[in-house]
Amino acid sequence: MKNGYVDLHLHTNASDSTFTVKELLDMAKSVGLAAIGITDHDSVDSIDEGIEIGKKLGIEVVPGVELSAEENEMEVHILGYFIDWKDNEFLNKLRILRESRLDRAKKIIKKLNDLNIGIKIEDVLKLTDSNTSVGRLHIARALKDGSYISDIREAFQKYIGHNGPAYVKKYFISPIEAVSMIKKIGGIPVLAHPGVLNNDELIFKLIPFGLAGIEVYHSEHSTSNVEHYSELARKNNLLITGGSDCHGLGKGKVLIGTILIPYHFLDSLKKYKS
Ligand code: AMP
Ligand code: FE
Ligand code: FE
Ligand code: ZN
Repeated sequence: MKNGYVDLHLHTNASDSTFTVKELLDMAKSVGLAAIGITDHDSVDSIDEGIEIGKKLGIEVVPGVELSAEENEMEVHILGYFIDWKDNEFLNKLRILRESRLDRAKKIIKKLNDLNIGIKIEDVLKLTDSNTSVGRLHIARALKDGSYISDIREAFQKYIGHNGPAYVKKYFISPIEAVSMIKKIGGIPVLAHPGVLNNDELIFKLIPFGLAGIEVYHSEHSTSNVEHYSELARKNNLLITGGSDCHGLGKGKVLIGTILIPYHFLDSLKKYKS
């Protein structure tokens, strides 16, 4: 068993972090992490390079992903750990999800234009490259760059949040489909930030389909969230994971280093996998 601390929920610029995978690993090194999970939204493009750089820096990289799903108007994020990130069928599905994200970004821009906000899709795309999993955080950043808002949260509150006037649904998969996709490639499905979702029923619904864990430690979880979900995990034999959900400077503050979970949680994931 290894010692030290891990952060199992981190993004790169393959999705909506401002950090490249190299910058992420350098930050992981500087905050002293023994292992990290790379969990980009609907993308696995940073994993190979992450593992490579991790080897040089002495940081273990767990291959992961964060799939966006939706059910009854609820946004549900499913993390997958120790996935086979080279599986062709899976890669094709991710490609479709990313293409639909681009379509959706264009629709959001159209709605913003109808609200007299003169932002262009090019303003968003210049924050990404051709493979990036483009999302609302990129649009929020473009809005900020154009001085239409003063901070990222305002973009979600005023315009692109779930009930906002410029919100557009994604082409969506259900949480059950997300769990199944991860299981199919040998991964461990974990419900991301359940405290943000606040819907324990969904956890019980997903367990029979293979949900294996819940993210108990997360930068948006309160102390009572942590207590509640630790207990729920213990009672239902679920794995416990945790991470900062750092998006680089994407959300204004660099979060890596703020959630450090002991290595034994990663050992339990490995034991489950084997
Ligand atoms: P999308 O995947 O395009 O639907 O965008 C969801 C992402 O937007 C989340 O994973 C977060 O990175 C970000 N996000 C959602 N709500 C907020 C918020 N209120 N403030 C900042 N970022 C947010
Ligand atoms: Fe995100
Ligand atoms: Fe998430
Ligand atoms: Zn995340």
